[in-house]
Amino acid sequence: MDTKRVIIKDRNHPKEEELLEAARIVREGGLVAFPTETVYGLGGNALDESAAKKIYGAKGRPSDNPLIVHISCMEELPSLVKEIPGAGRILAETFWPGPLTMVFLKSDLVPDSTTGGLNTVAIRMPDDPIASQLIRLAGVPVAAPSANTSGRPSPTTADHVWQDMDGKIEMVIDGGQVGIGVESTIVDVSGPVPVILRPGAVTQEMLDEIFDQVFIDPAILGPMEDGARPKAPGMKYKHYAPKAELALFEVKEETIEQLYTPGNRLHSFVSSQMSGGKNWNLKPETFYMAWKVNEAAMEMEKAGVRVGVICTDETMDLYTVRLKRSIGKRASEASVAHNLYGVLREFDDLGADYIYSESFSQSHLGGAIMNRLSKAAGYRILQV
Ligand code: AMP
Ligand code: MG
Repeated sequence: MDTKRVIIKDRNHPKEEELLEAARIVREGGLVAFPTETVYGLGGNALDESAAKKIYGAKGRPSDNPLIVHISCMEELPSLVKEIPGAGRILAETFWPGPLTMVFLKSDLVPDSTTGGLNTVAIRMPDDPIASQLIRLAGVPVAAPSANTSGRPSPTTADHVWQDMDGKIEMVIDGGQVGIGVESTIVDVSGPVPVILRPGAVTQEMLDEIFDQVFIDPAILGPMEDGARPKAPGMKYKHYAPKAELALFEVKEETIEQLYTPGNRLHSFVSSQMSGGKNWNLKPETFYMAWKVNEAAMEMEKAGVRVGVICTDETMDLYTVRLKRSIGKRASEASVAHNLYGVLREFDDLGADYIYSESFSQSHLGGAIMNRLSKAAGYRILQV
């Protein structure tokens, strides 16, 4: 199949005529990849069984891994769900349009192939002018998982989509680089207490401000135990995996304590390394983590292994290893989320065999960042 690429001239003000052909393709059962504020989506008519099957085919995605259905306004919601519970209404009012997906009991209108056979449906109203206008023009709800080959990092540029989807779908809409860079937060509102199924830019802290009680699905925090039944079937699959073996470095509580204890060996070592240099504004634990990552990477490099390091703007200069890329600024979690998948793909292109990465705090957007990095690493987290 010849894949057409449509470049949107002004991504904040797409013209209707730029999206009419895409809308027709979706309405008639074809597939169009398009930008959203989170990552690029691979869109098809959510009410058309065969379009959903095509999506699974193009992604190479297991068919029990359900799709998220995208809408452009509140009026499109009621026909897709059995009921809109109070929590769902509050979250829609607060965060839609935006990077939040909610899981509802599904109506009979939504085919089983879209929900992977579940009696629930995941729905999001994106806050992206291209996505929103495309859905509105298509006139149907749009099922759109991330537009990557299953198991690869999600695409944040049209070039990423092209790498995975050229020849497999009718059209790619090029709206440049997306803003947020990690997938939407998913909250299940079909039960008595809202449950976070996937962390994203709508953070746990934001949800805690609204509800007395919010649960977190255990699959977010660590690997699924063998035989465990995840709430979302997709959670059992290895996700976001770069081609290289990725490992994260995390500083132990015990080490942090030593780093802050005057007279301790680690405290003296880090103080002497940091003093006088331009690293004075780094936290000792950040300096120590970078030191350990570099040490491990240099050892690999000397052994002839193609090893890359994921660092940050603040720590970049500390590394002596040849292959290093900054994932963003520690001072701005948003910049880290924004660059995360692009950096993983870049290391794929560079042919790295191993990637060592710094880790980040688990709070706010850091929760989503660490969730994606840990999954990409297959939960290889080295405590130093
Ligand atoms: P993606 O669109 O590739 O980011 O993946 C969509 C994810 O949404 C899936 O992997 C599921 O984990 C989740 N999801 C979709 N539908 C449901 C549902 N009905 N219940 C729970 N999770 C869902
Ligand atoms: Mg995905």
